[in-house]
Amino acid sequence: MTDVVIVAIDGPAGSGKSSVSKQAARELGYGYLDTGAAYRALAWHVLEQGADTADADAVRAAASRFPYAISLDPDQYWVRVGEADVTEAIRDPRVSSAVSGVARVPEVRTQVNALFRQLAAGSDRPGVVIEGRDITTVVAPDAPVRILLTAAPEVRAARRSAELSGQDAAAVAAALHRRDASDSTVVDFLNAADGVEVVDSTDLDFAQTVAAVLGVIHQKQESPHGR
Ligand code: C5P
Repeated sequence: MTDVVIVAIDGPAGSGKSSVSKQAARELGYGYLDTGAAYRALAWHVLEQGADTADADAVRAAASRFPYAISLDPDQYWVRVGEADVTEAIRDPRVSSAVSGVARVPEVRTQVNALFRQLAAGSDRPGVVIEGRDITTVVAPDAPVRILLTAAPEVRAARRSAELSGQDAAAVAAALHRRDASDSTVVDFLNAADGVEVVDSTDLDFAQTVAAVLGVIHQKQESPHGR
């Protein structure tokens, strides 16, 4: 057992999960673990080898030789595969469209989940905010704080296209919905599991969403079993 406090945050693309989790971690003095980055980095690794992420054998082969490293410092975020700094490259739409193929391979999920638990347990901070799709249900179902961050689909699409300026908004929305549809066949991140608090950011700006998430964290830490 570890005494690092885990805050588990799940949600779909464009819910604000990454930026909100990172900011909440900063304010708490906690580490921040972006789990999607591992799936993205593995997808990047598969594509680098000229393979297709729809090919589960190619994905498994790449996963068996995957020198992955990530920073848990919310102020110094980086992602590496071997010597390559892939922090930017894994955000490329080419990787986003390929990533669901990687996430669908059960052995990959088992491998990265073990890594996530190990990274969080090894943190030198009092806690770690871990964000992804299955953190509240699979990676850390016993975490003292578990949150599902949601937002209406059209709001998520608008946020994502604002991030990817220069790209066609309709195409960005279509890609996001395609990825959600594919991802939701693997894990249900659209409905909260028992005991998971929902924070809906549809009508909240960034600061309000961070405040809402910190509110849940403080409330759970003060009264772990009640409301
Ligand atoms: O959160 P992000 O958009 O970076 O995640 C990239 C992809 O990684 C998701 O579309 C999903 O396929 C996969 N993922 C997952 N489980 C997680 C985190 C991400 O399957 N915990």
